[in-house]
Amino acid sequence: MQLPDSFVFTQQNLQDYKDCAYRFYLKNILNIDWPAVESEPIREQEALMLLGTRFHLLCQQYFSGIPANVLSAQITQPELIEWWQNFLQLDLHPAPGSYSVEKLNFIPFAGYRLAAKIDLLLKVENKLFIYDWKTSQHQPKRQTLLSRMQSKVYPLVISNLATNQNLSPESIDMVYWYPAFSQSPVRFAYSSTQKKADQIELELLVEEISSKGKEAFRKTDNLKACSFCRFRSLCDRGKEAGISEMSDEPDDSDDAFNFDFDAI
Ligand code: SF4
Repeated sequence: MQLPDSFVFTQQNLQDYKDCAYRFYLKNILNIDWPAVESEPIREQEALMLLGTRFHLLCQQYFSGIPANVLSAQITQPELIEWWQNFLQLDLHPAPGSYSVEKLNFIPFAGYRLAAKIDLLLKVENKLFIYDWKTSQHQPKRQTLLSRMQSKVYPLVISNLATNQNLSPESIDMVYWYPAFSQSPVRFAYSSTQKKADQIELELLVEEISSKGKEAFRKTDNLKACSFCRFRSLCDRGKEAGISEMSDEPDDSDDAFNFDFDAI
């Protein structure tokens, strides 16, 4: 099956493929938007997603120059107030030109494009810090986070940007920062060895996906993956939703995926 040349790989669609090839096919090839909610209880889930979106927006507004006290005055939800106070304690005051916020970055990759939308990319002296705000109610194990596609795609994209060609991978750190667990961010240092390994893994993955016949995008055997998948009623994998460690994150992948790259 030939993917269009304009196809954009993202950490989310690659993660979909790793979790379930059929999910990748439904979402990214057939573009099916299936309405099932992903986990229960529904209202609580929606509220958490909304809270996460608001937190991201507050950070964006802060870095666009709106004073912290003006933003603080707008917040009424106790949980968001606590998250916001934790964020302010990070004491981030980057110099103009040393950072970008919610920026979609992309590189040519294995015949397609690879995109990464970075919450905050911060340059401090000769180091680059990739911050990702994680607003979930659970903090996964470090190893779980490191094994996810996001931990491979983001540093690889940033490292390969034309503007960073003179920067060694060792100069890049990735930080998963949880406003609900502000004392325990998950931080890891990138390296040339890791970059080489990730590059090979992702190239093989893209090649595998792009050379697959449509009947080869099979449903996963891991029923746990179905319990928080929006397609489970379509796949006849049950109506009851489960709880996922990652599922209360606002999904910014759609922004990246729906972005009109040709407009750049
Ligand atoms: S419900 Fe299960 S089999 Fe169907 S797309 Fe989702 S993860 Fe794959």
